[in-house]
Amino acid sequence: MQVSVLKETAPGERRVALVPETVAKLRAAGLDVVIETGAGEGAWFTDDSYADAGATVGSRADALAAEVVLMVGKPDQAAVAAFRPGQVIIGLLAPLTDPDLAAGLAAAGVTALSLDMIPRTLPRAQPMDALSSQANIAGYKAAVLAAAEYGRFFPLLITAAGTARPARVLVLGTGVAGLQAIGTARRLGALVSAYDVRPETRTEAESVGATFIELSSVGPASGAGGYARDLSEDERMAQQQELAGHIARHDIIITTAQVPGRRPPVLVTDDALKAMAAGSVIVDMGASELGGNVAGSVPGEKVVTESGVTIIGASGLASSMAAAASSMYARNISALLLYLVKDGALALDGEDELQAGVIITADGAIVHPALSPAHENPAAGDPAAGDTASQGPTA
Ligand code: NAD
Repeated sequence: MQVSVLKETAPGERRVALVPETVAKLRAAGLDVVIETGAGEGAWFTDDSYADAGATVGSRADALAAEVVLMVGKPDQAAVAAFRPGQVIIGLLAPLTDPDLAAGLAAAGVTALSLDMIPRTLPRAQPMDALSSQANIAGYKAAVLAAAEYGRFFPLLITAAGTARPARVLVLGTGVAGLQAIGTARRLGALVSAYDVRPETRTEAESVGATFIELSSVGPASGAGGYARDLSEDERMAQQQELAGHIARHDIIITTAQVPGRRPPVLVTDDALKAMAAGSVIVDMGASELGGNVAGSVPGEKVVTESGVTIIGASGLASSMAAAASSMYARNISALLLYLVKDGALALDGEDELQAGVIITADGAIVHPALSPAHENPAAGDPAAGDTASQGPTA
């Protein structure tokens, strides 16, 4: 069976779906691997390194023709047009927020597997959890970015020239990315506080060194599948107001809050920004074209407010560490692929809970229950939740 890797075409995307180490593993399992020329260059993996690992390096047409086509992000329109019925494609396809792509893949007769739909709580799915691997990297990079931007020290420093107090960091949203941001900021020596609407995250945040903040104005908001639910308008306003006082007492804010298929909730309002000290830094990991967790943040840009607060609209953080992100992603996607292969061929089984979770199209139709019109799709009813909304942590 031939498996291929496409070169990513989304602007700024530097990751690649397989790295040489994982090519060797797939070859050992009897699979032929075709890598599109230059697919790994954004992550510093050369064509030669793939060839040395046993892959064939070929054209885009060669890669598009394989039985199984691997990618990181969504395929572009030209790729979808080139797919043929019966092909299998695997990537982070974001079907909840981009149902048009899912419909296009179904119309093309492709069997599409979306790694961001993997049932994350199944123990056997852990090695395939690309949302977690990419969120981990993004959380680490968010803390490092904040430290680089901040004009003072993170740790307590006692020197002959005086004492520098440690930075006070507040992490909003303590999922996978938030926990890694907490741990990284702690390792850099900052004093770290954290808040999440899911109270069960408290012990996790404390275990990596944060002081957990509880708000009296908002109750628990745990939703299905370990995610947060969308807050009501009243809850949102109460949360924003109470958070503002905490935000003003911190030097660095890292926001990671997401609700699957929804616009990222605004946690830092204009008023909260005005109450922060000049020189404070915010890294908004929720930043997307739909807005973000911070008023006025712009994805991919650094904005300095009139009152001197720097807001980094931090989309694409995992891609900015492309070598690490690709290595982890490659292990995730290879683990899924090897799970699906029996005797050198794909053996898909819709009865298997893990597979039923990731298969979104098959035999010319959308087959995932979360995408059926009857299902209450969280993206439906929110016309703003278009194709740029993240389904999970900003990757
Ligand atoms: P996510 O990216 O969907 O959201 C990030 C965080 O933002 C979440 O903790 C969420 O509660 C929080 N949030 C959302 N709205 C908020 C608001 N208004 N105010 C404050 N915080 C808000 O989350 P994630 O990192 O993908 O993790 C989601 C869940 O999946 C977690 O429960 C995580 O533990 C779980 N998970 C489980 C496994 C496993 O069982 N092996 C693996 C990975 C993740």
